[in-house]
Amino acid sequence: MWRMALILLVMYMTFKTTYFIDLKTMPTFVRLISAAIFGICQSLLLIHMMHDACHSAIGYNQNWWRFFGRLNMDFLTGGDMKSWFHQHVLGHHVYTNVMGVDPDLPATEEGDMRYLVSRQVWKALYKHQWLYMPALYAGLGLKVRIQNWTATYLTLMNGPIRVNPITTLEWVYFVFSRLVNTYLLLVIPLLYGRLSFFEIIGFFLVQELALGAWLAFNFQVSHISTVAHFPCDKKLDQAIAGEWAVLQVLTSVDYAHGNPLVAFLSGALNYQTTHHLFPCVSQYHYPAITPVIEKICKKWKVPYNHFPTFKEAIGAHVGFLYEMGNQTNVKE
Ligand SMILES: [Zn+2]
Repeated sequence: MWRMALILLVMYMTFKTTYFIDLKTMPTFVRLISAAIFGICQSLLLIHMMHDACHSAIGYNQNWWRFFGRLNMDFLTGGDMKSWFHQHVLGHHVYTNVMGVDPDLPATEEGDMRYLVSRQVWKALYKHQWLYMPALYAGLGLKVRIQNWTATYLTLMNGPIRVNPITTLEWVYFVFSRLVNTYLLLVIPLLYGRLSFFEIIGFFLVQELALGAWLAFNFQVSHISTVAHFPCDKKLDQAIAGEWAVLQVLTSVDYAHGNPLVAFLSGALNYQTTHHLFPCVSQYHYPAITPVIEKICKKWKVPYNHFPTFKEAIGAHVGFLYEMGNQTNVKE
């Protein structure tokens, strides 16, 4: 838990640094860097505490999962635990990299900004996806803020995953948590800081872009990669071939094993294979479990995807975007 305490401490220090009066005299670029660090700290809260909580990997009691998940997701960062649970736990973890059921992949064969699966209809625009997609990742946080309203709560669909009807109490909680988050991130700085309205909005946007980029890069490199497998990538009605655990190994990408700094900054997403096989185990145990899984994979001749560094994992992600977008054997 010391890791959580450290993130919280840095987060609140940057919160104060970014918005409050005592640093009004600091140069603007210092305050902009502070806003970006604040966004990254919010992202760390999500990939550490919230991510473990959504998988029941904090404590032995569902009240702990709810408390830590909702505190970090709903109140401190402005996401929504219910939407995330449908997208990540019910969709992505069960149907990893299967287009049509994994909400992290394009939902339809036409109309997505990304060309990741050969079942999609290719367009000339996709030739440049390796350039524009990494830039668009920064908008993830803002997109999710809007999608929580429009998708989960209004249309009762989170991508391909159906959502049960929302009760009145859930609506009240959802609106209440939005108000608390807006109060924390925008109203308090406006009331008690000495910055103008537009400065506050500017810092808020910087923090949102940093949060979105941090989250998106960490999640994308772990599944969208030259070495990752995409089940059912050719036909819509193709049966999923293979056993679930093997598919989890084939669709996941690890990097930088044994590097505690990378594990801390990525919320142990660099041990993605272990996370997908044992999501209900705390991420702080992954470095110990992973060598056992690697040994078993070797024994049963299941390819284990691992890059020595984060840089190589990013290269394989951007390389995949380039390769898919510049295929010559696809019809426009
Ligand atoms: Zn997960």
